[in-house]
Amino acid sequence: MSVLVVGSVALDSVETPFGKADDVLGGSANFFSASASLLTKVSVVGVVGSDYPIEKLDPLKKRGVDFSGLERAEGASFRWRGRYRHDLNSAETLETHLGVFSHFSPKIPEKLRDSQYVFLANIDPRLQMDVLEQIKKPRLVAFDTMNFWIQSRRPDLLRLLSRVDLVTLNDAEARQLTEKFNLVQAAQWILARGPRHVIIKKGEHGAFMFTESSIFFAPAFPLESVFDPTGAGDSFAGGFIGYLAMTGDLSEANMRRAVIYGSVMGSFAVEKFSIDRLLSVTRPEIDQRVRDMRRLITFEEDLPA
Ligand code: AMP
Repeated sequence: MSVLVVGSVALDSVETPFGKADDVLGGSANFFSASASLLTKVSVVGVVGSDYPIEKLDPLKKRGVDFSGLERAEGASFRWRGRYRHDLNSAETLETHLGVFSHFSPKIPEKLRDSQYVFLANIDPRLQMDVLEQIKKPRLVAFDTMNFWIQSRRPDLLRLLSRVDLVTLNDAEARQLTEKFNLVQAAQWILARGPRHVIIKKGEHGAFMFTESSIFFAPAFPLESVFDPTGAGDSFAGGFIGYLAMTGDLSEANMRRAVIYGSVMGSFAVEKFSIDRLLSVTRPEIDQRVRDMRRLITFEEDLPA
């Protein structure tokens, strides 16, 4: 089963304690598709400007990512400039230039309107809603956002919440959206507005998946060195939804396995700048890291009598 993603297709300039990169491939849709395409087929809906180095998408195309829903418009591409200091869990946004995204009106190609798995990646919630309205009868719609949109488009976000099945946010975004400091309460606040699953990511401290009746937790894979955390969240979503689409199974047990795939794909994304590591990682390396994750979290219960 294939996944449809709408999100930013960007040029990122990033500073971390380990180095700098300028105008590299970035954006929520690119990280998501670089990750999910390792598991299933992905189609991207978005827009780039006339300055976008379109040939840099070739490795993704070669891997089968469908860019028939990616428009090219006159003007500047979406650009994001961010910095991480020694706390690699939180990005500081220095500049956001929406460029051609500010006048974009997504038109989903007819063949993609039947998509069963849809990821509304981080972008203007009005565009996320536009995409949702053009999809016929999806099995799973997941949605992500960030502080920039929570500040500027709150009413649109609240409308979207009632239309989606699953929400992925990081802990700061969940607190900002719900105005609850406690993450269990924040998840309950979101669940009460419609979604059946809420995933709250905590960077190197792992991720929770909440439903009305259960909580699951997956650690982040303990890496010896994290190089650039940009895109970890979108790569997590790519692993998570890619795994669900690949297996076609939305049972609770499989959703938990999908969280582990999310965590594993997030851990690869942060090993290099941009989508570089997601382009070089192999299926055996992914499988091995999933096995290592299982060893990391398995223990035998031996309660005293
Ligand atoms: P994350 O997975 O949360 O680290 O997402 C990183 C990506 O988000 C970067 O590649 C940016 O290009 C993209 N991004 C940053 N700000 C925005 C925004 N306001 N809307 C959409 N995408 C953004």
